[in-house]
Amino acid sequence: MAGKLHGGMIFNTGKPYPWPALPQSLPAQPLRMTCPNTPIVSVGQAVVAGQRLTEPLHPMSPCFFSPVAGTVSAITPWEPDALYEKNHHRDPHTRKHPAKKLYDVHIHPIVEDDGEEGEGEGKGVPTSLKIAAPTKPDVKEWFDHLRNFGPWQQDEIGCDLITQLAASLQAKGKLIRHLVCIGLDAYSPYPDRSSLLMTFPDDAVLGLQILGNLLDIKRPRLLVQDNPDLIDVLKRPCKSFDVKLVADFNRYPAADPTLVAYRHCGETMLTANAAPTDGRMVMVTPWTVIRIARWVTRRRLDLVQPVMIAEPQRDKHPQRHYAFPGTEICAVDHTLHGCPQRLEGKLISGNPMTGLTLHAPLTENKGLLSPTIRHSTQMLTILASSHFLDSTPCNTCGWCTDVCPTGLQPVHLAESIQNFNSTKEKFSNVSSTKPTQTVEYPKQIQKQLDYCIDCGLCTHVCPTHLPIAQTIRAAIAKQKG
Ligand code: SF4
Ligand code: SF4
Repeated sequence: MAGKLHGGMIFNTGKPYPWPALPQSLPAQPLRMTCPNTPIVSVGQAVVAGQRLTEPLHPMSPCFFSPVAGTVSAITPWEPDALYEKNHHRDPHTRKHPAKKLYDVHIHPIVEDDGEEGEGEGKGVPTSLKIAAPTKPDVKEWFDHLRNFGPWQQDEIGCDLITQLAASLQAKGKLIRHLVCIGLDAYSPYPDRSSLLMTFPDDAVLGLQILGNLLDIKRPRLLVQDNPDLIDVLKRPCKSFDVKLVADFNRYPAADPTLVAYRHCGETMLTANAAPTDGRMVMVTPWTVIRIARWVTRRRLDLVQPVMIAEPQRDKHPQRHYAFPGTEICAVDHTLHGCPQRLEGKLISGNPMTGLTLHAPLTENKGLLSPTIRHSTQMLTILASSHFLDSTPCNTCGWCTDVCPTGLQPVHLAESIQNFNSTKEKFSNVSSTKPTQTVEYPKQIQKQLDYCIDCGLCTHVCPTHLPIAQTIRAAIAKQKG
């Protein structure tokens, strides 16, 4: 069944959802840019779009810049949280995160008519910056340009492009052997990467080829899920630009860099938390290469990023938005408007399996601040509470089977457990819900219980709100006694 579905939410239409066209301007929103060291701007100062807010932490690390023209209204210090530690750039030499204190620079954008013809014209805050990309395939020149507009974070890869280019510059003779764009969705029911590839196929392939030229890689690889519609739109540009299109079955954790390295880069072993360049690879996500191609062809650098917001168990399509880093999350999606409390502890940056819970940063003077879109945010998951939702019978959609990372058929397993429990209860006349009672399940059920890792994904996606994982968890507990 799972092979036909091509990822939970996608199977309804047979296609990844297209993203809306990139807007040329956005309505003005106050931004809070999180910087890893003392800002070099002061309160009350006017800044232009693209102006540096901090010096880089290390000569080889990225700078932080203002994506809008505006005025600095406040600077708020706070302690780094676990999410920041995990997702933000580390020193390429020590692999440690050097920031002891973070600074939120509050910027009030200026809405102006930029007076130009064509793209970027009109009222609002322009979403791109008019600046030419480097012209030569020279790693040092690209590195210098890219780091000025850093940090080029990549959701779920854990290593930004700047750090990888810095490592390849320092490798001195040890050439990069593989360049892979991971277009597999980090979590298959939420087609964030597939949908980007579907919307910008030519840009994605061109950007990958530009990076390939830069790193002297003959045929970079574009790894995508085995979806016929997606492959159809990518086949032609991949052939024209000599990019190798590789289709793979997209079940979690197929998009994990460690697995990608092993399966698609000559069985290279990459330990957890290692940078891809440790295995002489460079790994990028679709938005990185799309942004590079759009910069080269349009001579404008996009300063907004795509953000997909997914709410499970609601029969809703994931919401797709473009936002500046620094925008408060509740201002991005109107359905979240004014609800930071409702979301406390339920908002995940990334996918529900490996993402981290977002908490509002606690600052010294200003108390709790709402979470913002950061450079690493491309996917947000809201965890719905199944506790308050009424279950309805299974509609055989197959999502639970599709997402189960160990290949179980969760709903069938849960049904078998329930059938066994009710039969046992009927014949023994003893309540099977007694917590102390040890239950010996038939071999066929026991074998499957051994494979459940209690990730909860089956319950997370179930549109009829069935407590599948809870049923399996209770059976495992009863089996152990
Ligand atoms: S909780 Fe168990 S059955 Fe459900 S998806 Fe995870 S591993 Fe599969
Ligand atoms: S249990 Fe839920 S997720 Fe699984 S097939 Fe039935 S309705 Fe779909």
